[in-house]
Amino acid sequence: MNNSDNLKDSANKQFAAVCGLFCPGCSLYIATKEDDKERLARIASMFGVSEEEVKCLGCRSEVKGPYCRMCKMVTCADERGVEFCAQCTDYPCEIIKDFQTAMPHRADLFESGERIKEIGFETWLQETYNEYTCGQCGIINPAYDLACRKCGNEPSCSFVERNRGAIEKYLLEAGQRMQEEE
Ligand code: SF4
Ligand code: SF4
Ligand SMILES: [Zn+2]
Repeated sequence: MNNSDNLKDSANKQFAAVCGLFCPGCSLYIATKEDDKERLARIASMFGVSEEEVKCLGCRSEVKGPYCRMCKMVTCADERGVEFCAQCTDYPCEIIKDFQTAMPHRADLFESGERIKEIGFETWLQETYNEYTCGQCGIINPAYDLACRKCGNEPSCSFVERNRGAIEKYLLEAGQRMQEEE
């Protein structure tokens, strides 16, 4: 899928997560949408579940990945009658603060929340596509793909360029944890 295909989807709130994450830049979403069996298998083995269970089509869709199926923020936002956590009077609460610090692909979460409030989710989606787009071939890349998954360009996108150190550290530690568990 190229960037213009992605932009056609941009008015769809399904891709603007309640927490402020950008669903089209998620590895689970990309693997599901493109039916990328190798990526699905890799993620499934990381979570220790089946390939079917890791499929995700976005925070507000009916098909959600293992983490997002159990998300406290979606339930809480629903109870409070807000579409995004950033619209909540207690934002950022301890739940979302803990969530944000746990993984580097969430680095922009609070900035995204503020942007969604300021300019609306449609415009925020459009500007965020650019953050995850390969400068060389125009494909969307997930935060943990340091090189572009299509053309190999490094860094794979602006998000990775800005957060490379934290992403590399996380991947190294995650690899070590997996080895220890084997
Ligand atoms: S389900 Fe929860 S963690 Fe997943 S994208 Fe939506 S708000 Fe964020
Ligand atoms: S209390 Fe926290 S999790 Fe719940 S809607 Fe507000 S910011 Fe989101
Ligand atoms: Zn590329």
